[in-house]
Amino acid sequence: MRTLVELIAAKRDGETLAAAEIGHLVASFASGALADYQMTAWLMAVFFRGLDDQETVALTDAMLYSGRVLDLSAVPGFKVDKHSTGGVGDKVSIALAPLVAACGVPVPMVSGRGLGHTGGTLDKLEAIPGFSTQLSAADFARIVGEVGCCMIGQTAEIAPADRRMYALRDVTATVECIPLIVASILSKKLAEGIDGLVLDVKVGRGAFMKTERDARALAEALVRVGTRAGKKVVALLTDMEAPLGVAVGNAVETREALDVLAGGGPPDLVECTMRLGAEMLVMGGVAQGNADAGARLARAIATGAAARTAERMIAAQGGDPRVVGDRSLLEVAREEVVVEAAHDGYLVRVDALAIGLAAVAMGAGRTRADQRVDPAVGLYIDGRPGMRVTRGQALARLRVRSKEDAAPVVERVAGSFEVGDAPRAARALLLGRFPAA
Ligand code: URA
Repeated sequence: MRTLVELIAAKRDGETLAAAEIGHLVASFASGALADYQMTAWLMAVFFRGLDDQETVALTDAMLYSGRVLDLSAVPGFKVDKHSTGGVGDKVSIALAPLVAACGVPVPMVSGRGLGHTGGTLDKLEAIPGFSTQLSAADFARIVGEVGCCMIGQTAEIAPADRRMYALRDVTATVECIPLIVASILSKKLAEGIDGLVLDVKVGRGAFMKTERDARALAEALVRVGTRAGKKVVALLTDMEAPLGVAVGNAVETREALDVLAGGGPPDLVECTMRLGAEMLVMGGVAQGNADAGARLARAIATGAAARTAERMIAAQGGDPRVVGDRSLLEVAREEVVVEAAHDGYLVRVDALAIGLAAVAMGAGRTRADQRVDPAVGLYIDGRPGMRVTRGQALARLRVRSKEDAAPVVERVAGSFEVGDAPRAARALLLGRFPAA
């Protein structure tokens, strides 16, 4: 085996490393034999030189086995999770996990917190009174078995090498590197003990990947590497130019996700939830194809089975299950400040990034991992791309604890709407599937 410094130099010089060499680097980092600054040098070398698929699988494996792989073997069925690369207004998981579980596919889900302009599922779930996202591995496995789904946060045992490597990447400009992103996402997801994974790779202003070219490259790499790691993996590419749905914030988004389980919800959110859900049902072997899957999902909503599963999951995780039937139990800040259209025309753009940043500035998100969020504040984005608007029409409604709290962000929210003279066709939600259907 080459020395650690030789392995850093080899990647710097563009060589391909053997799986055992990558395993040795990560294990040495975990044990302290490889210092942070050495790992940082290796990560920067990877940033410039890349990793081939075999190296990426090896890195995924090494990060995965730096911690514990949850054992869900006692839970019968083909276990499938969904992972989104993140966006503004993306509350899909909260409806999707109980919906898919109600159709017979177990969903063990480990989610993240919001950071930067994107929100996090854990923050949204914690808007439910009493709901705990910090459960032991044993409770997680028990609840998946009993209810069909459970949604928790990353524990210290899940891919700890990724956690430390991500912290280094975050402050050394090495996050935007496809093989590193792939290994980081997959190592955490594979640690959940899943059999299959459906990925929602978001693309556009409010997404991590701003261009379709980059998003496709990430989706393809996630599918290739995940498949080589022995899992069934499908990725959908979905639009994130404008926020998903109407609500942006925590309690407001959880309310909206629960609306979907009651048969309502904005059309784009419903479409995103149904398309991902259909992939999960087909992958899980309970539906014969998209049409059959769609019918099963619709039935689970119409019969109330999905809502009942959500209630059982919330109760099992210490939350108040009555929020499913009475969304007003999720506290939303009382004061409302309306942002109106300045003139007549057509909405040609609703900038998800600007709205996401406004939500953070209002206290719904965080810019540092240790910040607390205010579950009750948020925005309703009434203006949708392609819509005809007249002067004075409400484009957004900010929900704040006092009207003065809205002042610093009103301009930013107003600036996120671009009104033009001619209509522009709204982008389709679904932009691609990998592998192609
Ligand atoms: N999300 C992750 O979990 N890891 C990355 O590297 C980037 C996004």
